[in-house]
Amino acid sequence: MRKLGFSFLSLLLALMLVPIYPQSFASANNFDASHETAVGKDGMVVTAHPEASKIGAKVLQNGGNAVDAAIAIQFALNVAEPEMSGIGGGGFMMVYDAKTEDVSIINSRERAPAGATPDMFLDENGKPIPFAERHIHGNAVGVPGTLAGLYEAHEKWGTQKFHQLIQPSIKLADKGVKVNWPLAKSIEDNKDKLAKSAAKDVFLPNGQPLKEGDLLVQKDLAKTYKLIQKQGLDVFYNGEIGEAIAGTVQDFGGSMTLDDLNNYELTIDEPLYADYKGYEVASMPPPSSGGLTVLQILKLLEPFDISQYGIRSPEKYHLLAEAMHLAYADRGAYMGDPEYIDVPTKGLLHPDYIAERSSLISLDQANTNVQPGNPWKYEDGRTPSNIEQNDEKAIGQTTHFAVADKWGNFVTFTTTIEQLFGTGIMVPEYGIMLNNELTDFDAVPGGSNEVQPNKRPLSSMSPTMLLKDGKPYLSVGSPGGPTIITSVLQTILNVVDYDLDLKDAIEEPRIYSNQYPNIRWEQGVPDEARERLTQMGHRWNAAPGEIGNVQAIMVDPDTGLYYGAADSSREGSAIGFWKHGNGKNK
Ligand code: GLU
Repeated sequence: MRKLGFSFLSLLLALMLVPIYPQSFASANNFDASHETAVGKDGMVVTAHPEASKIGAKVLQNGGNAVDAAIAIQFALNVAEPEMSGIGGGGFMMVYDAKTEDVSIINSRERAPAGATPDMFLDENGKPIPFAERHIHGNAVGVPGTLAGLYEAHEKWGTQKFHQLIQPSIKLADKGVKVNWPLAKSIEDNKDKLAKSAAKDVFLPNGQPLKEGDLLVQKDLAKTYKLIQKQGLDVFYNGEIGEAIAGTVQDFGGSMTLDDLNNYELTIDEPLYADYKGYEVASMPPPSSGGLTVLQILKLLEPFDISQYGIRSPEKYHLLAEAMHLAYADRGAYMGDPEYIDVPTKGLLHPDYIAERSSLISLDQANTNVQPGNPWKYEDGRTPSNIEQNDEKAIGQTTHFAVADKWGNFVTFTTTIEQLFGTGIMVPEYGIMLNNELTDFDAVPGGSNEVQPNKRPLSSMSPTMLLKDGKPYLSVGSPGGPTIITSVLQTILNVVDYDLDLKDAIEEPRIYSNQYPNIRWEQGVPDEARERLTQMGHRWNAAPGEIGNVQAIMVDPDTGLYYGAADSSREGSAIGFWKHGNGKNK
């Protein structure tokens, strides 16, 4: 198969090369986690942190399956990459179960507490409180779902003991983990917010931000993990940890109570599916906007047969920007938590609606007046209402990782506390960083994504799988708030339309534009292409910047080999696995 460059011969070659490429080889207890790509026959782990990848690989080596490894990885990331995700947050874990051949999602999105109100992010004049202020307030903290999600996944698919899956991360928190460059930068950039809570003692010991190479020791978090290990889920949702979480949120002005934690409910969701060029794309349904928007953009672009234009051509960037504008306009107007509002899922992807919207794309000039369409026309004919949101939000960060095992199970998991370090609020004595996920709600009430008690804020997280003949072919996901959608989209286009190797598909410079006219761009978009788009009416951000952090796994359908690739924008780490474990797949 071309994309991987694999065939039977190359499988033989790959097996022969194993001793030369140690990143592909897992020897007992000692994984080389220092590479961004790997090839594996019996499993693959790709995360944004080497310690988490090692811990996941060890679970596979011990005979655990992909879900076991994912659980252990989430606990490890909470320790080693604490600015991005953890048990104080939420996430979407997409799982392909090789036995049933089904894809499902453990949706552990945070919920608003019972005391949340639609106007809680407005000031006394009815204007949105600036994001810098509202995201560090107790009102921004959603009831965390991550731990409930891990337990649910374990109940459904786990084969190893839950307490054993936490164990390596207790050691990591207790003995310490080296601060890597992304964490050092995150601490430095967020030192003011961290200084306002118990987080200062952990990340700014003696008032000084930890630097790259320093040891990050988290005794309180280790204690919390031990409590969970001994007492299970209840200690978090109905016990001393929950009490401490609710108390801390209230100390910072929020309304959360132990009842809110006790009432937390996750959902198990079915993916949204669409065909794209012979692949079945399984994507994240609402309350994420991710799947619908990725699928809409793919469908809007389909008639243009984008690969006839060069991968760095002006035509390609123009078409991408135009399709993004149309899809993001609908995203803002129609998407929210389906437990609270009707989302016109069918209308948004209806072929006639897609044709109507894609006819708004001209090849020569930017559409300067993009409005949401009316997908309800293709569903039940109702008249939509639309509330304009003129509100600047900062783009968040989070983390995406993927695991595949020797049985063919896959986990592709985007997990978050929203901004770097979430609210910046750490629960004293328990070491848990609290999310600011509720700022993903609209600050201005009245729209589909307004705050309501128990509701889940609109997300962009988009764990995605492409299936070929019902079998996993590609898993992909990324952090980056609303930019997630375009990072996932462009990785898919680079693989499917442009036939790039997986690592090249991830590293290819990306663009992001949610509305006319400004385009964010990564280093590498050619000047000539940018000049041409400027003539067509687009505007480019003055300087390039990074967009997203993609982790992906691809399967060679002929050989079954796994190919894993991590993004270079963090300390990504892929570990391929070649040994047979001795565990059983449930
Ligand atoms: N809060 C974001 C979302 O759910 C995820 C965090 C991020 O990467 O921005 O879309």
